[in-house]
Amino acid sequence: MTPFVNVNGTDYRWPTRPVVVVCIDGGDPRYLEQLLQEDAIPNMRAFIEQGFGSVADGSMPSFTCPNNMSIITGTPTSRHGISGNYYLDTKTWQPVVMTGPELLRGDTILARFAQEGAKVVSITAKDKLRRQLGKGLDVSQGHVSFSSEFADRCTLVENGIENVLAYVGMPQPDMYSMELSLFVLEAGIKLLKDHRPDLMYLSLTDFVQHKWSPTELDARRFYERLDDAFGRLAQEDVVLALTADHGMSDKSNAAGEPNVIWLQDRLDERFGRDEMTVVCPITDAFVAHHGALGGFVRVWSKGRVDADSIMAFIQGMDGIELALNKTTACRMFDMPEDREADVVVISREDVCIGASAASHHLDGLKGHRLRTHGGISEAKVPVILNRPLNARYRQKVTWKPLKSHDIFELALNGTD
Ligand SMILES: [Zn+2]
Repeated sequence: MTPFVNVNGTDYRWPTRPVVVVCIDGGDPRYLEQLLQEDAIPNMRAFIEQGFGSVADGSMPSFTCPNNMSIITGTPTSRHGISGNYYLDTKTWQPVVMTGPELLRGDTILARFAQEGAKVVSITAKDKLRRQLGKGLDVSQGHVSFSSEFADRCTLVENGIENVLAYVGMPQPDMYSMELSLFVLEAGIKLLKDHRPDLMYLSLTDFVQHKWSPTELDARRFYERLDDAFGRLAQEDVVLALTADHGMSDKSNAAGEPNVIWLQDRLDERFGRDEMTVVCPITDAFVAHHGALGGFVRVWSKGRVDADSIMAFIQGMDGIELALNKTTACRMFDMPEDREADVVVISREDVCIGASAASHHLDGLKGHRLRTHGGISEAKVPVILNRPLNARYRQKVTWKPLKSHDIFELALNGTD
């Protein structure tokens, strides 16, 4: 047994009991605030009181893929390179999907431990994350990596597990349901009981948080079920660590209509058509609940208009929090320069940004207020452990700002 495993420059201690890290997708601290007050989440309350609970900085942009990759590699976006779902290839001027494992730089903590002989399990709700989370993981060696989205299609060759629906005892969950997340947790509990893997990563989906605010009944129902599952996980003598990839903000006006800046339309109007391209890196198959609108977009210029002119124009718009050039944005938010645009635009908490009005479909909202993420206002996330920190890490968290990408370090090195 190896005492330490080095992953991307950090030494992680070999676990003495299973370590389970859960990413509550869209798990804004405001849900905890509300539901702790309502006394609806007794297990999480006990973890916070007897273990550890705080708010940490997530990675920017506050989207799902970048933050899952930060958590699983223990590094900021500048190191692992996944800064959104898309970047623009300026040679072809085509957006490139960033969900392929070949674009992820460095090793994952799971794969490195697996190489050293640990038993590892990775389960995600959305299949788009699965291949990157499973990068370098050889499932023929007893490791497991699958998504609840495609639970009914798992094979031993691809996922290291088969007949998952029968094994978990739940039907195939709907893509737009809270069961898609709950399935991940039930599968994790079952695998933990049967195989006691050394490391387990469980990544949920933010369907509920996109749809319901912390005070709505369905959000409470979801959190009650999460809390129940967390309680059963903690009973298995594990280190349980909970965090989120990003928060979630209400971005609608008093009449319930979304506050949107259609940035491509505004730039076309001001500088002429096709001078620059706005890419919304939140875009994914889940457009139904947010219409691909987020709080962070990228602007690439074809070259005739410089970044300063674009920034000056955008900074004057109501609802914009920041418009930054590439260098400043990457330094400020620790992002990779080679995948960054000429101008980075971040909206205020109550506002979101789209490309052109004609390219987004908002009918998926079906009367719900628009709730989404991507900006600074959604970059704060909870960090909760079911066990107390040891003396060294109790000190460390008082002088070093807590980052959500340090959650594996906290769970492995920070608990005894
Ligand atoms: Zn997310």
